[in-house]
Amino acid sequence: METENGGTTATDTTHKEKIVHSMDEVNQTIKDFETSSQTKFLKHSGKIYDNTPQKSKVFWRVDDTGDMVPYFTTGFTKYICIHSRDRHSYLSKKCTSEKDKLLRMQKSKKRDCGATISVSHMVQFPELKKPTNVAIYQKTLATRFIKYRLTTDNNIKQEPTFRIVFPQNTDHSGHVIGGDIKGEMDERLVLKIDEYVSNGVSNVKHIMNNLEKFVTEDLFKDGSIPLLSNKRYFPTAKAIKRQYHKSFLQKQLCEYDQDTLMRDIDHWKQEISPEDNILFRPFIPTPPIDKDDTLSSLDHQFLFVHQLGWQRELLHRYGNDFCFLDFTVKQTRFALPLHFLCVKTNYSHQVVATFVTQENSVRHIAEALDILKHWCENWEPKFIFTDNNEARTEAIEQVFSGCKVLISELHKERAWLKRGYLSDAKVTPEAQEQIVALLKEIAHSEDEASFQKSHDELMNREDSKMNSKLQSYLNSWFSIKERWCWLYWPEDIRILMLTNYGLERHHNLFEDIQTKFRPRKVLPFSISFLHKHFLPEHYKQYRMDNSSSFKLETSDFMPADIAQHLCIKEHCIRQLSEANSRQPDCIECDCDEFTLKYEDGTATKVIIPPSNFPRCSCAVYRASFLPCFHIFTLFPICENFSWASLPCWFRDSVFLSLDPHVCNLPATVQVMIEQPSELENETVEHVLELSSVTVSPSSPTTDLNTDIRRLLDQIQAVCESAPNEELATTKTDLEIILYRLQNGTDNACTL
Ligand SMILES: [Zn+2]
Ligand SMILES: [Zn+2]
Repeated sequence: METENGGTTATDTTHKEKIVHSMDEVNQTIKDFETSSQTKFLKHSGKIYDNTPQKSKVFWRVDDTGDMVPYFTTGFTKYICIHSRDRHSYLSKKCTSEKDKLLRMQKSKKRDCGATISVSHMVQFPELKKPTNVAIYQKTLATRFIKYRLTTDNNIKQEPTFRIVFPQNTDHSGHVIGGDIKGEMDERLVLKIDEYVSNGVSNVKHIMNNLEKFVTEDLFKDGSIPLLSNKRYFPTAKAIKRQYHKSFLQKQLCEYDQDTLMRDIDHWKQEISPEDNILFRPFIPTPPIDKDDTLSSLDHQFLFVHQLGWQRELLHRYGNDFCFLDFTVKQTRFALPLHFLCVKTNYSHQVVATFVTQENSVRHIAEALDILKHWCENWEPKFIFTDNNEARTEAIEQVFSGCKVLISELHKERAWLKRGYLSDAKVTPEAQEQIVALLKEIAHSEDEASFQKSHDELMNREDSKMNSKLQSYLNSWFSIKERWCWLYWPEDIRILMLTNYGLERHHNLFEDIQTKFRPRKVLPFSISFLHKHFLPEHYKQYRMDNSSSFKLETSDFMPADIAQHLCIKEHCIRQLSEANSRQPDCIECDCDEFTLKYEDGTATKVIIPPSNFPRCSCAVYRASFLPCFHIFTLFPICENFSWASLPCWFRDSVFLSLDPHVCNLPATVQVMIEQPSELENETVEHVLELSSVTVSPSSPTTDLNTDIRRLLDQIQAVCESAPNEELATTKTDLEIILYRLQNGTDNACTL
């Protein structure tokens, strides 16, 4: 308690405190305290009072010479332990108040610590010092004198003063003190690593030795060397690698990537339509002193988010139930990964948005997803398939409340087949093969009994029981079984994700992304390739698929209700004719299980659960998740079992019908593709050349025939020198136009 005019300065004697006279000293003192106590604090809150001399109270404190000094308080700053939960609530409050900030904070950690450092900001008046035993009236006089001076000529010596009160070790709770504080390396070491990056030094061992030398011989040459266990000053090789990677990327961004990218984007922005969204926020290096403030915001961090108008349309058409979040797999640590939001369409998987973040953290990914969420109004995906990655999973859950994160078939296998746990757990390749096979069985079990059977078989294996590393690996997978076992997924989502060759098509897009983007290690190349080649090509294919299917011949034995589903017509025609030519010798029926026996001795089992989607054990079914020829064989035989009895979430799904928006669109030539050029910067001219060919939507309505003739002439001229693939697609495009002109727009879609 401190009272005005004469109370004694009583401070909490159980807490260590220190008086300093500048903010720099405050920062240094806190840093030193963190070092000696092996803790880490973050700036949490603070206030600077708007004092007028009349209203301010004058307090007295005992200084280090034992005298009493009068002072005003002018504000305070509070620092909280890095393990405090409060940290997050404060930051997220700050976010909502800043309207434009599309930022969400990391979920609160389970640990919650109440330790704080408080700093009182004061102004003291050293000239008016009094001995401790001074009479009260003399203090009152001094107080009046101060107020008088301040309101009149201000002619009185004022000294900024800061009192720092430190917590005791017992104030920390819920965490170990002195443990490895993740990712928190002393800033001076970070700067040192920046230097190594600039000088091209990359040997981690070498850097580690030099940092150690730097800490012991430069930073603490007075001898108060921190403990070797203090990771703030003696970071692990892993932490050094992580920081080196960060510094390297930042340097690369600053020196080359950002300028090139900025130029490209400025150029595109003149061409794109208002429906297209491109967000680019460059990385701005911040001096280390501001670091505590930037911790709450990503404003200075690199961010690129890209979504064209047609991509958003595809997202709205196909991505309401589920989407996929994929990415380029890093070949080297020195490239920022691209994230791709993808949807399954009626023919293929398509990229519907792309983003690049400076780091692969929850905050960074969540920020990008949040921007996409704002761009795509009313888009609330129920499921997002991605890999088994904590940052991606948490970011999705944070941005889309209620959305479940599942592990896609592709990423399950990629994870299980990865070499990492093999060598770590000393599992032989043969054993790994068997384990993966069992994991697959478990993943694809559709009922409790078969799930349990495969699960037991896996866990009762000799190596699963004896090898503790393998055991904990498997346990970690079973702790998230809802995310990868079909048993826990809604049947309609599972079937819709798989149907119409879903797996194969997901693989195709993923492989296409890897082969085309991985060699382009430099970010501007990747992004310009994405914008100028990759997306136009894929969209063109999508439109071709959706407009060319009407060319399919009608089939005599095609029932009308199947013929509507043009995207799977080809599959159905093949299976139907197979069913007609290969009749089984006999069909055995046991409840909802049918066994089809053929004359060559083969037998196939088809299960038709009441009111559910039928399933067959054959390869055609497992690849397509569409009715196979066995199911087509059963259609005319089984009572109440027909195409029409399939559930309507299946029959009516967007994955089985044409996109009416696209197949009615005129002038397919509008989709423009440039041939990828070896030298990326050559393509700029190329764009200009080709763009004159595109049909302008705003061309005058008068004398359209002249325009058409002019366009045809131009097309002819360009075709003289165009490469073969381009000629082939142009020919198809023109055929489509001709067909449409001859048959009318309506026929194009419905046959
Ligand atoms: Zn703490
Ligand atoms: Zn079958």
